[in-house]
Amino acid sequence: MINARIFGISRHRLTTDGEGVTTLVAFNGCPLRCKYCLNKTSWEPEKGRDYTPETLFEEVKIDQLYFLATHGGVTFGGGEPLLQVEFIKAFRVLCGPQWQILAETSLNVPFEKVETLDSVLDGYIIDIKDMNPEIYKDYTGKDNALVISNLEWLLKSGDPNRIIVRVPHIPELNTDEDMKCSKDQLAAMGVKNVDEFNYIIR
Ligand code: SF4
Repeated sequence: MINARIFGISRHRLTTDGEGVTTLVAFNGCPLRCKYCLNKTSWEPEKGRDYTPETLFEEVKIDQLYFLATHGGVTFGGGEPLLQVEFIKAFRVLCGPQWQILAETSLNVPFEKVETLDSVLDGYIIDIKDMNPEIYKDYTGKDNALVISNLEWLLKSGDPNRIIVRVPHIPELNTDEDMKCSKDQLAAMGVKNVDEFNYIIR
């Protein structure tokens, strides 16, 4: 049986993570350890509740009319949703092709997962952190080579407009100049949509 642990379901979100009305579904489990992570609950395996694709679909389909009327749907976040390949594939079969299914991801996952899910997902919101490998490692504890190669593949394999890349200002770790370098590099790769923002320290 396919199941996954989910620590949050947030309904009736408007234009924060995708077009139209969306429901954000947050999976436990993340390969990164970002210094200013707002979802540290995702690091704790015991937190949350186990769902199957069927039990999740039963719970979120209450908003089906909103999804269909506004071109919205479900945004999978976390944690790292691209680790949940079988779950998301099975969920797509249940919800059908009309719901928009997006992933809010760091893209720091094995290529096979990105490749498998690309035919299932309608779009991506990618938190790139910083394109500079040293800043990225200082912030997340991991290398960003996989992020960049996965992004290159996604840009070549489909419409670049299905991808939004978020470029944050990371307090104490990157400067305006670093952010500009990231944006220039992303533009040279073919990224069309960039969303700049500030991480908030809690
Ligand atoms: S990728 Fe997201 S969930 Fe994972 S540690 Fe970083 S901020 Fe937290």
